[in-house]
Order: sequence, then structure tokens, then C-alpha cells
Amino acid sequence: MADLTIRNGIVVTPSGLIRGGLSATDGVIVKIGADHELPEASRNVDAGGKYLLPGIIDPHVHLGIGVGGGPEKLQRDFATESADAAAGGVTTMITTTLFGAESRGEVAELAIKLGDEHSLVDYRLTAVVTTREHLRESADLVKLGIRSFKFFLGYKGAQAESFGMNANGISWDFFYEACEALGAAGARAFPTIHAEDPYVRDFLTERMRGSGANRQLQRWLETSPNILEPMQIYPAALVAHEVGTPVYVVHTSAWQSVDLIRDLKERGWPVFGETLAAFLYWTAPEADAKDRGAVAKIQPPIRLDRDRDALWKGVLDGTITSLGTDCQMYPHATRTDVDFWDAQVGLGPGMGTLLPAVYTAGVLSGRCTIEELSRVLSENTARRFDLYPQKGQLAPGSDADVIIFDPTERREVAASSLQSAAGYSLYDGETLTGWPEKTFVRGNLVFDNGAIVSTSPTGRHVPQS
Ligand SMILES: [Zn+2]
Repeated sequence: MADLTIRNGIVVTPSGLIRGGLSATDGVIVKIGADHELPEASRNVDAGGKYLLPGIIDPHVHLGIGVGGGPEKLQRDFATESADAAAGGVTTMITTTLFGAESRGEVAELAIKLGDEHSLVDYRLTAVVTTREHLRESADLVKLGIRSFKFFLGYKGAQAESFGMNANGISWDFFYEACEALGAAGARAFPTIHAEDPYVRDFLTERMRGSGANRQLQRWLETSPNILEPMQIYPAALVAHEVGTPVYVVHTSAWQSVDLIRDLKERGWPVFGETLAAFLYWTAPEADAKDRGAVAKIQPPIRLDRDRDALWKGVLDGTITSLGTDCQMYPHATRTDVDFWDAQVGLGPGMGTLLPAVYTAGVLSGRCTIEELSRVLSENTARRFDLYPQKGQLAPGSDADVIIFDPTERREVAASSLQSAAGYSLYDGETLTGWPEKTFVRGNLVFDNGAIVSTSPTGRHVPQS
């Protein structure tokens, strides 16, 4: 007798699609197979012929940051945004939460306490590194379960200072020392980088500032030409390769970056590309045509058709290994009640719409299959972040993080009906097809048919696998 058996589904597994379902006991999958092979359980669920997908791992989430950021905001975001995560089929969030110049150890422990008390889904932390003191702490952070360490190469000046860096941002000597420290910290610790040369970008931003009110996002795009991204990916990869650590490029946006990462991978260098749902769904002209304004203002920017095509190609051939949201719950007023050029940079909430957006733009448009999409949403990220095989696949021995996914459900997004507390969405008014019907986290039903049904925060900090 199992705790949970789901029958009458199409299970997306590492070895292909299986008609049937799965059973779980104590939160772990014990059997995958045809319906008649599955044991009876205390809870039996009929999937109605829909897909069973492994829970999504969002590698790029920012809980607790922004106006009023700090422990209280982090606690609130864990509660409300983990609900948005569950509604979107995200069962593990990797949150880049540890900002500022202060010591990381205590902040990490506090974040884990707040997450365990308030999150509905599982989570892991990424530590932002801004000082040499943080490098000295990295071995202790690895012991806490942190694997990913973020380097904001793309900032200088006041923006860098707001993250706890000095005004020059991250220098190459510092990055070199960091790669050495992470290599020595062991356990597959690795640097993640925001690559986007800030010197050229800031110069062009000043030039563009205040230019007309129309075509805002296309003007924003002009502040950060495509080349600024590979301009930093290449030296970072040189340093990482020299020192012997992998390097992971967050929110890859430009076609030249996809080409470069592919070339470096072919040389055998451990370079990994992540992109965002927004970059796979939107182009700047499309976002302008729908007046997305500052809600679509991100660094690096949403680019053009050629970039979107290259990113999808990278997803298919393994150049782009992970897919996330880069969500942060800034208040709507900081995006829209100020001049576009002064508005806070960032995409707002996104976990609740992640799967429908990329299913619509990817599978429905014939760009990829559901198995290919699932690999970049779950398995690849689990492998990179040392969560595999506990997370990232539907297989015996793995956590029962499962989405029952209805590929035919078609819905117009209304920000007010999403679970996020932010109250706005980049996808407001878009018609998206393919929505999670139920989400289980380690066998616990958290989200069911439009509502959060878990009565207690079931999320946990995920220890190393
Ligand atoms: Zn980010």
C-alpha cells in the first residue's frame, strides 16, 4: 500500500513517455508504470489522460529583495510566491536572496529558517558574492547546501553599490580569486555570472535617457547592444577554465552569446547557459506593441526575433541548459508610477506563468517537444545545481514532485487571479495554453484546480543529494 498513486496519465520520464502513472511513499517515488502495475494507495488520483511532469526547478528567483527588502519581505515572499510557484508547477525555487555586503553565514541560516517556516515548495539558496570576506565564507556556505555563487559582472557605480559591491563592480582579479576559492570549497560549487559590460551600457543609457515615449522597450534594447554579453562571457570562461571551475551564465539573451557558449562547450569547457521564459516568449517590438513598458524592462533587455530563435535552438541542442524566471516582487508602483527611465529594472513575478508561457511559445509553436521542454525545466537544472537524482526526474527513488499538466487548457492571464502577491504580470491579457492542474511536492498535494490546498508550509531547504 502506497501513500499516493496517480493513474491514467502520460508520464514524462528520462526514457520517454509512459502511459500509466506513478506511486509514492513517504514523499518518494516507488513505482512508475502502467496503471495495473501500480499499488493501491491511501490517496488515489485519476490524471484524466493528462501529462505527469517532473516538478519544475526555477534556477533564478529573487525572494525578499526590492523596496523594503529584508527578513520580513523574505518571509512574505516565501509565503506568497511559493504559492505562485506551486500554481505554476515549480516545486523547487533556487533563490538569489543573499545580497548586501554583510556576512553571508547568518543571513543564510535566517533565510533557511524563514523558508522552512513559510514556503509551500522546496528551495535552495544562491549566495551573491560582493566582498573577499564572502569568498572566505564560501566553504561554510557549501556545507549549508549552497552550490551557486552569483557575480554581478554587469554592474558598476550606484547599481553595484546597492548590491554591496564597491563602485568598480567585480574586477577580473576578484573573479579569478573567487573561482579559486569555489574550486577549493569543493562539492561542485560554481560561479554564476550576470554578463553585460556595464561601462558601454551605462554610457549608452545616459545617451538614450529621456528619448521619446514610444517604442520604449526597443529604446531600452539600444542601451545594451548584443555584444556586451559575450564581451564578458568570454573572459569569465577563460578565467574559470584556467582555474578549473565551471561557469554558469544567467539570463543569456543574445544570439552571439548562444554561439559563443556552444563554441566553448565544443572545446570541452564547462560553460552552461541559462535563459528566461520572457526571452523565449517576447521580443522588444512585441512587448512595445502590447505596451508592456517598465514591467518588461530588464537588464539584459528582451531582444529581437533572431535572438529568440537562437535561444530556442540553444535549448534544443543543449547549449542552454536551464530555464528560469528571474522573478522579483517589486511593487507595481515602482515600475509604472515613475518615468520609464527611472523605473526599477526587473520582470516582476513569473513562476505562475512560466510553464504556460514556454509551453505556448515552445511546444504549441512546434519549436520543441514536451520532453525537451521538461529536460530544460527540471533535469538539467537538477544536475547542474547538485539536486539530481533527488530532484529533476520522475523515477523510482526521486522525490515525488509531480505536476498533472493539462496541455489543452487555454486561459487569458489576469494578474488578479494569479497567486503572486505582486498584483501584476508581464503576461497580463496574454492567452496561454497548457496549465498545471495539480502540483505535488514530495507527494503532498499543494495546488489543485486553481487553489492552494496545502494547509501548512510543506517546503523544505533541499540538502545536497
Ligand atoms: Zn536575477
